[in-house]
Amino acid sequence: MNNLGKVELHLHLDGSLDLKTAYHLAMERNVIDESWTMEQFTEKMTVPSDNPSLEECLKCFDFPIAIMQDKEALSECTYTLIRNLNDLGLIYAEIRFAPQVHMQKGLTQDEVIEAVLDGKNRAEKDFPNIKTGIICCCMTYGNAKINEEANLETIRAARRWLGKGVVAADLAGAEGLCPMLDFKPLFDLAKELELPYTIHAGEAGPASFVKDAMDMGAWRIGHGGHSADDPEVMKEVIEKKMTLEVCPTSNIQCHCQPSYEEHAIIKLYRAGARVTINSDNMTLSRVTTHTEIDKALTRMGFTEADIRKMTEYAIEAAFLSDEEKAELMKKI
Ligand SMILES: [Zn+2]
Repeated sequence: MNNLGKVELHLHLDGSLDLKTAYHLAMERNVIDESWTMEQFTEKMTVPSDNPSLEECLKCFDFPIAIMQDKEALSECTYTLIRNLNDLGLIYAEIRFAPQVHMQKGLTQDEVIEAVLDGKNRAEKDFPNIKTGIICCCMTYGNAKINEEANLETIRAARRWLGKGVVAADLAGAEGLCPMLDFKPLFDLAKELELPYTIHAGEAGPASFVKDAMDMGAWRIGHGGHSADDPEVMKEVIEKKMTLEVCPTSNIQCHCQPSYEEHAIIKLYRAGARVTINSDNMTLSRVTTHTEIDKALTRMGFTEADIRKMTEYAIEAAFLSDEEKAELMKKI
């Protein structure tokens, strides 16, 4: 089993914090007071049940965001997450976060990224078996104009750190509240700057959003489950060899997919789509790479050979050089 879950392409830093680290930092920063027990804190950081509302899911990000507003906290949270991934036996992980939500105490997006990279560099030095890449997320809050300047700055800042630990950009947040194409200026700029990017699309939003993301030049699709709802879009996903970063438990918790057994990736994978299995938010969803693979094996009808194929898809689509990919391939 440990042999199978070695690569993660879709993992959010704020949803995957090490609980002890987060508890300690929250106490230090007066996000919580001494009356809080670890159990109470854990409850607030994780979805309350198997069937939470979207509001309950989003509430789980309140503490992580409140905690990570200074360089030390950003660095420490990144470090301990990578340490935990190393403990799980992962050899490669792309970790994503949105620099613009960590500016409440005056950090610039560049300073936020620098702090995360500090944690990444320290972790990779201490745990040489794991390699990581950082993805900087733009955010959608329902109207592309609200934070367009902050999003453009995310693209510019990500480009400044490209090759120094940052590997790509992304668009995350509340998908489906406004047209996907409203975000085109962000990806026009990324293209101009030769910054690679993945886009959350077809998670909560319709198949047409996956089509839009492909039209905007996405290198990969975050989730993409709903591409299975439209035969034309699904055909294009397969023909273009788009890699889908699917997170089964997260999709079910957020009511984007009905169940493991009826998850759209089963149909997508069988039809030839390049599906990969990821955690999304390890702490929030109480999952790991291994529990997700276990679900794929026990409830989604996939075989170990299928999982191996998906790991190959993940490595082939990683934001890495061909040499680095070849190195990883040897290790799986
Ligand atoms: Zn995500």
